[in-house]
Amino acid sequence: MAETVHSPIVTYASMLSLLAFCPPFVILLWYTMVHQDGSVTQTFGFFWENGVQGLINIWPRPTLIAWKIIFCYGAFEAALQLLLPGKRVEGPISPAGNRPVYKANGLAAYFVTLATYLGLWWFGIFNPAIVYDHLGEIFSALIFGSFIFCVLLYIKGRVAPSSNDSGSCGNLIIDFYWGMELYPRIGKNFDIKVFTNCRFGMMSWAVLAVTYCIKQYEINGKVSDSMLVNTILMLVYVTKFFWWEAGYWNTMDIAHDRAGFYICWGCLVWVPSVYTSPGMYLVNHPVELGTQLAIYILVAGILCIYINYDCDRQRQEFRRTNGKCLVWGRAPSKIVASYTTTSGETKTSLLLTSGWWGLARHFHYVPEILSAFFWTVPALFDNFLAYFYVIFLTILLFDRAKRDDDRCRSKYGKYWKLYCEKVKYRIIPGIY
Ligand code: NDP
Repeated sequence: MAETVHSPIVTYASMLSLLAFCPPFVILLWYTMVHQDGSVTQTFGFFWENGVQGLINIWPRPTLIAWKIIFCYGAFEAALQLLLPGKRVEGPISPAGNRPVYKANGLAAYFVTLATYLGLWWFGIFNPAIVYDHLGEIFSALIFGSFIFCVLLYIKGRVAPSSNDSGSCGNLIIDFYWGMELYPRIGKNFDIKVFTNCRFGMMSWAVLAVTYCIKQYEINGKVSDSMLVNTILMLVYVTKFFWWEAGYWNTMDIAHDRAGFYICWGCLVWVPSVYTSPGMYLVNHPVELGTQLAIYILVAGILCIYINYDCDRQRQEFRRTNGKCLVWGRAPSKIVASYTTTSGETKTSLLLTSGWWGLARHFHYVPEILSAFFWTVPALFDNFLAYFYVIFLTILLFDRAKRDDDRCRSKYGKYWKLYCEKVKYRIIPGIY
């Protein structure tokens, strides 16, 4: 019997709101940015006049070209995931005591993807601006296609789970929403969560960032410095992600969250539409910042991305070396925490209590949120909607910190209590 992440009532509420509000929100976000000049007031005015029928009218129907773009992109990424060479990497021990094995070829897939996309554009084979022109239809197709994908994932979890890190909690809705399997695979090697989260979701972020830049160039014959700062920062962030992809396989998304509607639909739909939205906004808002301000924002953004990376790196290096490494030039301070796996085995983990991890238990979320702020601020402050991702991310990460604390408290018990006594703050040192 699987443990559930949240109580049934929280799951029902979040699932209903995700199902009811997220798909229309994705369409409204796109519609406001692309057709209403990014103005929430204008969109509100439209719905004031047209009511619910207005939403039905603006909702793009998935077209053949949208399906073709999604299919070619998905198939290309799946092929790269399977075929490109990469180092064999072991993931963390799962709750059932398994150790999943991955092929670390994310960075190669990332460079091949960008080179292919830019090459297709350069040689006049495919114009990325077409993706922008059909964005609404693509998002609409993703909304429906990903739902069906999640139904298939649920069925797979029921009839053909890939490992014993799976199981039902006895409630169909919760199983569908939070997922049945931790590491679903097709065959032995094709990891479905690596595909949905990394190779489809995160990769689409970079591909769409480039698309928005090219579209602005097509409209204006040049790219504004605000768009350049936004695109460079997003690309640095996604490059960092793929550089560190094997590290991502140790994080909550992969090691703790099961492959269900929550994480998979989110990565397949929400990442391409909402995470990329500051760039989508800038296409029609070519703000000129001036070289000096542009460079300040760029440097501040890169610094935040670096600090976020360094926090993750520090924790993983500490775990990889079993605490035998230097943290900020000194031997790390730590807690040796023991816990019991679902199969009853006792294991130990090390908790780092110095370096970034001594400042707050989830300090790394601070530079994560600030990075997003710095790639959005080139849009300046004409429209609040450009900042939606930053606001969403802040709420997501504050909730995630709580979720992670709760999970670690039940996993490590008194050792987690000790950690909380040593490192008092959850996210912002001295404040929260
Ligand atoms: P973490 O990488 O922080 O992983 C949390 C896990 O680390 C805990 O569950 C625990 O796992 C272990 N851990 C906790 N404290 C310590 C410690 N002191 N020493 C050693 N190990 C510890 O979680 P996230 O997945 O949230 O973040 C990973 C990265 O992804 C971050 O950079 C974050 O900013 C980013 N992120 C971005 C999001 C976005 O939407 N843009 C969303 C979420 C994350 P264990 O059971 O192994 O002990």
